[in-house]
Amino acid sequence: MEIVFYHPSEPVEPWIAGMHKRLPGAHLRAWLPGDSLPADYALVWHPPVEMLAGRRGLKGLFALGAGVDALMQTLRLHPRMLAENVPLLRLEDTGMAEQMVEYVLAAVLRYYRRLDEYYLYQRQGSWRELALNDKRGFIIGVAGAGVLGQKVACTLAGRGFPVRCWSLSRKSIPQVASFAGDEQLPDFLSGLQVLVNLLPNTPRTEGILDGELFARLNRGAFVINVARGAHLVEADLLAALARGQIAAATLDVCREEPLPPGHPFWRTPRITLTPHIAAVTIPSLAMDSIAENIRRIEAGVPPLGLVDRAQGY
Ligand code: NAP
Repeated sequence: MEIVFYHPSEPVEPWIAGMHKRLPGAHLRAWLPGDSLPADYALVWHPPVEMLAGRRGLKGLFALGAGVDALMQTLRLHPRMLAENVPLLRLEDTGMAEQMVEYVLAAVLRYYRRLDEYYLYQRQGSWRELALNDKRGFIIGVAGAGVLGQKVACTLAGRGFPVRCWSLSRKSIPQVASFAGDEQLPDFLSGLQVLVNLLPNTPRTEGILDGELFARLNRGAFVINVARGAHLVEADLLAALARGQIAAATLDVCREEPLPPGHPFWRTPRITLTPHIAAVTIPSLAMDSIAENIRRIEAGVPPLGLVDRAQGY
């Protein structure tokens, strides 16, 4: 079995050894320009069009992450790059849910326990006690109730926060109120003190975090964007922060990554930035999951993490 691999920054050696260990009959090679030799499977992150265009015989294309927006964008521009019948698969959880839960919980607790205000008082030499936020009124909305969003919503609900989630289809999650579809978006947003974004980036969700959406949240709400930078209308966030409609934002993702020098987000005190690290791919767990999926495909069993190419996620 031939597997071809492309990642712009990950070293290939651990993947060669790791996939061989998991699938003894498999031979993995790094794709290099000009390589059009046959391959049964491709493992990719931001692949060049040339790697896939015209390639025949692929039984599966594995994205080495949870989000496939960049790949879908390339496919929209080059629709013939991947034959319709080749399954496109993404990583589901593979250690990312735990990291995402930790990241979002840390951000929520920081805002809920007013830690930024205490840090400011410390710098002012002020020993001052603030009122404890009322947890029952500290309503958290998780936009995107998929693999990651559901785990985040459950954890927050387990900490005693009132939690809502929003998705395309209605969910049944203990202690989490489910809202579904565009028509229920206003009800989902109304009264939220924290909005966590875990939607996939698709043509329907791009730019969803805009001024109109911010205006529907509680005044002084918090925004945590851990999905994609393309969801956020950056100028609208800056305006909402300036007006006090949004109190603070935690952004793990930006439209342009790395965030360019001189971008206003660098010097906006109420924006906290991290460099797209909320939940990273753990190669050993990703390899376990990909190997299992290859075994399923080879055995004629439906694979996990199949992307709906029409929906874009
Ligand atoms: P997922 O399992 O595909 O979940 C996506 C959720 O969004 C589903 O609940 C889906 O609804 C909902 N959704 C999709 N389109 C919608 C729309 N137009 N309106 C309302 N709801 C919509 O994805 P996941 O594995 O949880 O990952 C979510 C995203 O997190 C990824 O796409 C990626 O961009 C991001 N991510 C970021 C990092 C990081 O380090 N910052 C790491 C991993 C992932 P249904 O349930 O009804 O289908």
